[in-house]
Amino acid sequence: MVPGGYPVAERRKQLSTTYGFTCNCARCKTESAAPENVIEALERMWNRILDENVVQKAQELIMSTSPEATSKLQQLQQELEKEVAAFEGLLEQHALDMRVRQWLRSSAYATYELLAVCRDEQESARGQVSSSGDQGEASSSGRVPVICSDEQPESLMPLISVISPASDTHLYLALEWLERAGKKYGSGHEKTKTASQACLAAHLMRYGRVPNELLSQLIMARSQVEYNLGRVNLPSPSAASLSAAA
Ligand SMILES: [Zn+2]
Repeated sequence: MVPGGYPVAERRKQLSTTYGFTCNCARCKTESAAPENVIEALERMWNRILDENVVQKAQELIMSTSPEATSKLQQLQQELEKEVAAFEGLLEQHALDMRVRQWLRSSAYATYELLAVCRDEQESARGQVSSSGDQGEASSSGRVPVICSDEQPESLMPLISVISPASDTHLYLALEWLERAGKKYGSGHEKTKTASQACLAAHLMRYGRVPNELLSQLIMARSQVEYNLGRVNLPSPSAASLSAAA
């Protein structure tokens, strides 16, 4: 679990149990003063992650190649899309400040991350289907817009910069953002440049001002590792089959 990626009540509980104090940092104070339905929504998201062991279940579904697992994963994604959309709706409804929104989203990091993982998986599965024979767009009402999986590392970056700046997760996420943007848009593109700056900033935050050559070595070494959305993972079967197909 990423440090700090959970609601204020949980953070305070852990700090007070381990270190014996009640945290009154700006983020904790702001979050505990947030509108009641926002706090409730955060707690619901957190409880789902904890109680239903949903992260592990999702990993099992991703590892499985059965059609049943695929449809369960789609169902999970739809539930997460709804949950996140409702939460975003509340942030909008209360017209909260952008920084406060980032803090609050960060407290639901596990949910945003899980949704990003589902979208990513969905997108690579869709890529496989469409290359093996096009299935026409079946549209149904209330369907969520398709979000390009390559945007997922970028979507998580602002949240990880709040809860775990300069962490391994932050650095791997930045590298993956850069790598995917480079592949998709090319090295000269604005998006790739933005990703590159964010990646550099993350590494400088971690290592301080080190000579350029050393910094490149550090970045190169890190980029050799297999990572997915900020986590160092065992490769999933679908990832393996994707790279075999490429
Ligand atoms: Zn705090």
